[in-house]
Amino acid sequence: MIAEEIHRITEALPAGVRLVAVSKYHPTEAIREAYAVGQRVFGESHAQELQRKHEELTGLEGLEWHFIGHLQTNKVKYIAPYVSLIHAVDTPRLLTEINRQGERAERRLRCLLQLHVAQEETKFGFTPDEAMTFLDSGEWQQFDHVELAGIMAMATNTDDTSRIRNDFHRARLFFEQARDRYFSPDTFNEISMGMSDDWHIAIDEGATLIRIGTQIFGHRVY
Ligand SMILES: *Cc1c(COP(=O)(O)O)cnc(C)c1O
Repeated sequence: MIAEEIHRITEALPAGVRLVAVSKYHPTEAIREAYAVGQRVFGESHAQELQRKHEELTGLEGLEWHFIGHLQTNKVKYIAPYVSLIHAVDTPRLLTEINRQGERAERRLRCLLQLHVAQEETKFGFTPDEAMTFLDSGEWQQFDHVELAGIMAMATNTDDTSRIRNDFHRARLFFEQARDRYFSPDTFNEISMGMSDDWHIAIDEGATLIRIGTQIFGHRVY
């Protein structure tokens, strides 16, 4: 079933869109099953869980870990040595700490700014205005161990597809504005959006990374 879902999804992906298989709360056997059919990028959202899985799976060549959830500043040090992409940078303070830990690990850490575009109070992230104010401040330009590579967003949790489309669309417009103002399209090139229930819409709206858990691995055991 894991293999089937991965084939089903990857066959539907247009060129330039990559699947992040969200393996949080699922055992490493599930990750091995996905790896066996060619999946290489996995998303986790808890630093300790990621650390444990990374240690268990170090032998798997080419495996890439993405940290997709809310990241606490005091946890950055655990993942900095090996994480490939941090999807959800939601405060300047977190980016400062990522830069510090990137320096310690002697790496340049690729990061996405998390945009808050959903009609919900509880979600983390910068509003598009806050994100642009942060970029305008230039503070991030001094960070030698961080590379801002794009944005990440979540849509409103609703059945109203026009609202979901609208959320993703706003995220994409911000991405284009920010890129054109501050970055090279060669390095600022990722739009992470779309989960099990809305990834088709996200791809229509320009996603380059889709983060899918439940559809591949089934319901999570908490
Ligand atoms: C858990 C999670 C996902 C995957 O969600 P599914 O609905 O299971 O596909 C995607 N993005 C983030 C940030 C998550 O925490």
